[in-house]
Amino acid sequence: MDLAFTPEEQAFREEVRAWVQNNLPKEISHKVHNALRLTRDDLQGWAKILGKKGWLGFGWPKEFGGPGWTAVQKHLFEEECALAGAPRIIPFGPVMVAPVIMAFGNAEQQKRFLPGIASGDVWWSQGYSEPGSGSDLASIKTRAERVGDKYIVNGQKTWTTLGQHGDWMFNLVRTSTEGKPQTGISFLLLDMKSPGVTVRPIKLLDGECEVNEVFFDNVEVPAENLIGEENKGWTYAKHLLSHERTNIADVNRSKRELERLKRIAKTEGVWDDQRFRDQIALLEVDIVALEMMVLRVLSAEKSGKNSLDIAGLLKIKGSEIQQRYAELMMLAAGPFAMPFIEEAMEAGWQGDATAGALGGFPGGVTANAPLASTYFNLRKTTIYGGSNEVQRNIVAQTVLG
Ligand SMILES: Cc1cc2nc3c(=O)[nH]c(=O)nc-3n(C[C@H](O)[C@H](O)[C@H](O)COP(=O)(O)OP(=O)(O)OC[C@H]3O[C@@H](n4cnc5c(N)ncnc54)[C@H](O)[C@@H]3O)c2cc1C
Repeated sequence: MDLAFTPEEQAFREEVRAWVQNNLPKEISHKVHNALRLTRDDLQGWAKILGKKGWLGFGWPKEFGGPGWTAVQKHLFEEECALAGAPRIIPFGPVMVAPVIMAFGNAEQQKRFLPGIASGDVWWSQGYSEPGSGSDLASIKTRAERVGDKYIVNGQKTWTTLGQHGDWMFNLVRTSTEGKPQTGISFLLLDMKSPGVTVRPIKLLDGECEVNEVFFDNVEVPAENLIGEENKGWTYAKHLLSHERTNIADVNRSKRELERLKRIAKTEGVWDDQRFRDQIALLEVDIVALEMMVLRVLSAEKSGKNSLDIAGLLKIKGSEIQQRYAELMMLAAGPFAMPFIEEAMEAGWQGDATAGALGGFPGGVTANAPLASTYFNLRKTTIYGGSNEVQRNIVAQTVLG
C-alpha cells in the first residue's frame, strides 16, 4: 500500500488549486468559510461553473463526457474544492443518479439525461425514503401502475433533500407485491413539474427547510423513464447507495472545519485551556485516521481492488466527526453560539441574523451566529444515507464476518 502522492498527482493538485482559486466566486467561499446560508443560486451557480469546465461530473468516465480521473485525482479535486471554500456538490445528479443511468440506463436515456446533469442545469432529488420506510427501505409503498405506455404513480416520499428546488426526481416505486419486497421495486425518473406532484417543505431544528415531503397523486410518468427492467430497481438502488455513503464521509470538509474550530477557540479564549485543546487534538487525530482510511480505499482502487464494503465504516466515522466539530464549536463560543436577536422577535422582521445588535463580544455575533444552526443541522449526519446503527450491522456482517 502506497499512501504518498506521485509527482503527477501533486501537479494535478496544483492545477486544480489554481483553477478553483480563479473561478470560485469570493462571495460564495466567504459564505462557506463562515457557515452562512447558501442559496439555490449559490449552489447551482457553482455547479454550472464546474459544469462549463467539465468537472461537475468529476467522477465520470470519458466516454460519458467526464474527465476520466483516477480515484486519487477525484479525491484531490474534492479536497482542493473543500479547502478553498467551495460549496459541496449536490450529489443527487452527478454523483448518485448519473452512475445508475450510465450503468443501467439505455442509450436514449443517457443521451437525454446526462448532459443536463453534467452542465448543472437540471436539479435532481432522491425519492427513496417514505414515512415508515427508511432503514427498512424495501417496504416502500409508493405504487407505480403500468397503464399502456405510462406509469401512474401514487404515494408519498419524505425527507427529500432540497426537493423544493427539484426539476427531476429518481424514485423507487412498487410495481409488484409478489415475492420478496425487494423484487417488486422499480427505478423511475420523474419530472417534478408533472401534474399531481406536491412538494411540502419541512422546517427543521436549525430553522431551515432542507428537506421535504413529496406527494404523488395520479402522476403520469412515461414508461420510457423506467431505468433497466421493471422490478429490478433494488439492484440499481444499492449500486447508488454505496456511492452515497463514501461521499458522506466528507473528510475534506472536516479538515476545513477543524481549522475554523481552531480559529473560534482562539478568538473566544478557550484555546488557552489545555483540556479544551486536548479535545481538539483528539478530533484532529480522528480526522487524520479517517483520511488514512480514505487513502487506503483509494490505494486499493488503484490496484484494482474494490473497497466499497468499507463504505459504511467511512460513513460512520465521517458523520461522527462532523457532529463532534460542531459540538466543540458550540462549546468554544459558549452563550454567543446562540445569539439573541431582539429585532427577530418583532412581527415581519426580515433582517440578517448574522448582523445583530450584540457586537463587541469576543468573536462577535457575526462570527458565531451560524454555530447553533450548524450544530442542529449536523444532527442529521448519523441518520441520513442509512443510519449509523444500520451501518454498524452491515459492517459487522461484511467486514467482521
Ligand atoms: C436531513 C436528512 C436528509 C435526508 N435526505 C433524503 C433524501 O434526499 N432522499 C431520501 O430518500 N431520503 C432522505 N433521508 C432519509 C434517510 O435516508 C432516513 O432518515 C434514514 O434511512 C433512516 O430512516 P428513518 O428516518 O425512517 O428511521 P428508522 O428507519 O425508522 O429508524 C429509527 C431508528 O431506529 C434505528 N434502527 C432502524 N432499524 C434498525 C436495525 N435493523 N438495527 C438497529 N437499529 C435500527 C435507526 O438507526 C434509527 O435510530 C434524509 C434524512 C435526513 C435526516
